[in-house]
Amino acid sequence: MLDAPNKLRPMHIPSLIEKKRDGGSLETAEIAALIAAYSADELPDYQMSALAMAVFFRGMSDAETAALTAAMRDSGRVFKWPEGSPPKVDKHSTGGIGDKVSLVLAPLLACDNLWVPMVSGRGLGITGGTLDKLESIPGFNVHLDEAACLHQIKKIGVFMAGQTANFCPADKRLYALRDVTATVPSRPLIVASIMSKKLAESLDRLVLDVKFGSGAFMKTREDAELLAAGLASAGKSNGVRTSFLLSPMDEPLGRTVGNALEVREAVETLQGNGPDDLVAITLDLAAAVSDSPRDVLAKHLEDGSAWRKFLALVEAQGGDLHAFEDWDHFHPAPVVRPFPSPDDGTVVKIDAGWLGAAAVQLGAGRHKTGDAINPAVGFSGIKKTGEHISKGEPLLWIRAASAEDADAAARSVCFEVR
Ligand code: URA
Repeated sequence: MLDAPNKLRPMHIPSLIEKKRDGGSLETAEIAALIAAYSADELPDYQMSALAMAVFFRGMSDAETAALTAAMRDSGRVFKWPEGSPPKVDKHSTGGIGDKVSLVLAPLLACDNLWVPMVSGRGLGITGGTLDKLESIPGFNVHLDEAACLHQIKKIGVFMAGQTANFCPADKRLYALRDVTATVPSRPLIVASIMSKKLAESLDRLVLDVKFGSGAFMKTREDAELLAAGLASAGKSNGVRTSFLLSPMDEPLGRTVGNALEVREAVETLQGNGPDDLVAITLDLAAAVSDSPRDVLAKHLEDGSAWRKFLALVEAQGGDLHAFEDWDHFHPAPVVRPFPSPDDGTVVKIDAGWLGAAAVQLGAGRHKTGDAINPAVGFSGIKKTGEHISKGEPLLWIRAASAEDADAAARSVCFEVR
């Protein structure tokens, strides 16, 4: 928020850009005024681009990053929760391949007498997005307004929705601008973008899943550590109990990649039959924001309560529950083809980055904003590293819209069996 309305008047924008360009620090009030002016269309995109590029090269201190985060949070509406309501918790993942954790975690935490106001995103680059996955459930509505969010969370303790026009609008605009000005990979800009949205949920506790590896935004553990520290610092300085987990993303999470395929695997996990790696990371993240120990959280998966909560969530958001009775019928892929292992041996590599890119090529992700995605396509039955495989046995199954697409995907699988 602006300290005082007259702060905006004497602000000379080129001087502030110059200050950052030359390595100076911007004051909290200057950052607030810049974002307020940008939101009010008083600061044009060309000046904001110049500022973003200056930040890209010069960076920002923790104090500047916290100020930018708070200013972007306050560019729109911030959730207000009723007095005395349960602790509000959420997690954010920096994105991975086959990462369907949110679909399991949100209902699981809601079983634990916590409120989960989960505002999620769509796929970004090669990484999948929770909203795209949820939309493979026929009828599921991710466009909830504030009143609907409040009504639903009071009733069942959880909603999973997209960013509305009034939720961190400065981030929405700035992100689109960064996307076309080569300024996305700037740590303070990433931190402010992610954390402004989480802070606008008015959380008590947040856990961050910061991934590193070939299928992640951050390629090295060192970069992931720096990003995690920046995210946690912005959370804490804005009053949210924030913790993080660093997790490798060199192979996909679970055994599926692709929207409807991942929903099916999430459902199996909610019914107590999930793959070990998905169950483990979900419980680790849940335990970081819950008061319950890990074994109590695991019980919610084993005894069907998380699954029943998920069904309540789907029903509340207009989804067709009958879809789960015959899931494959709703999303049949025209071409389903095994990818056989060329040798007997142990799987030592099944590269997440290549598989993510191949999934986008198959139609599971977008090349540009607004592209339609195909929920049926992707990969299933993916072998995990360390597993034994026989020659000719499928390393994975390719699910494609056409034989040509399946051929192209087969050429993109990067693996090693020894
Ligand atoms: N996700 C976001 O929401 N913002 C970024 O800048 C990067 C990833």
